[in-house]
Amino acid sequence: MAKPTLTLNGKPVEFEPGQTILEVALNNGVEIPTLCYLKDATPTGACRVCLVEVKGARTLVASCAMPAGPGMEVTTDSQAVHTSRRLNIELLLASGNHNCLTCEANGRCKLQALAYKYGITDIRFKGQTQQYATEDENPLIVRDFSRCILCGRCVQACNDVQVNRAIGYGYRGAASKIVTTGDRPYHHSDCVFCGQCLEACPVGALVEKKAKGQGRSYELKQVRTTCPYCGVGCQMLLHVKGDRIVKVTAAQGPANKGRLCVKGRFGYDFVHSPERLTTPLIKEDGQFREASWDEALGLVAKKFKEIKKEHGAGAIAGLSSARTTNEENYLFQKLFRAGIGTNNVDHCARL
Ligand code: SF4
Ligand code: SF4
Ligand code: SF4
Repeated sequence: MAKPTLTLNGKPVEFEPGQTILEVALNNGVEIPTLCYLKDATPTGACRVCLVEVKGARTLVASCAMPAGPGMEVTTDSQAVHTSRRLNIELLLASGNHNCLTCEANGRCKLQALAYKYGITDIRFKGQTQQYATEDENPLIVRDFSRCILCGRCVQACNDVQVNRAIGYGYRGAASKIVTTGDRPYHHSDCVFCGQCLEACPVGALVEKKAKGQGRSYELKQVRTTCPYCGVGCQMLLHVKGDRIVKVTAAQGPANKGRLCVKGRFGYDFVHSPERLTTPLIKEDGQFREASWDEALGLVAKKFKEIKKEHGAGAIAGLSSARTTNEENYLFQKLFRAGIGTNNVDHCARL
């Protein structure tokens, strides 16, 4: 069956039933700016930056929330669209404290980028936003409400993407705020510190505490890797300055689809820990001394042989780690079963 079509900036394009105007535009290489849109989450139309003209409609429409319809005539870049987007960006800037010089999001902030794109140099309005104190009490996430544009992406990320349901909208009008149940700080709420809200925030309202002051986004190199914590294999990006990891964000991978848990996102301190073991240690007379891998492995093999000779293979057991890959775990059990001759093999993920 032929697909339905609409006209996008004067050009006929096909679309799938159920797609929004924004999705049709993206599929056809037409850029529409957004702030609140979060892929695969329920659209909210909160920021009004993705406004487009639809012929016959009474007003401009939010393209992220408007389903595409057959025969629609959509214009994404008219003067009316430009003026409205500019006004909405200006109002968002006026609604908070947007001093980019001191903001951690400087250089990666979507609001800042749009202000630049639409040539906003002066804010004509005085904001009347409720000034809530910054929440800086937990060790992982700083919540700066003065920079929050109430786009709701954090709420979608928490509720739709991670399904933790720890935050939502609270209060009304100029006093509106993103709140946990009972408006308690994150560390006294249902928040599990997965950091998905942090990742979704398009501005500097949610900031990773450990990354504060450690480098601007344009100074950081991104290195894609696999989370070392468990066997799920979540894909992640290490943001590195020099030889130090400054922060971790999620990458799209088949297992995690852009999500991470608290361990993967925040538990990277061990990489630079001065207490990290970098060489095997052998205990002699109650004291550890450094050894080469050859020496350490040779000693383990010798001890295995002695135990097996004296007590039998059943006296030996192997406990493997969830931090290794499936392939490594396969080899581990093979070593114990075929090499040593025992079925005493287990894995910490089962405990
Ligand atoms: S949130 Fe964005 S616009 Fe606001 S101060 Fe930070 S960088 Fe600037
Ligand atoms: S850290 Fe995770 S659980 Fe906590 S509010 Fe953010 S998304 Fe929700
Ligand atoms: S904290 Fe960030 S993501 Fe959440 S509503 Fe505010 S600006 Fe949007």
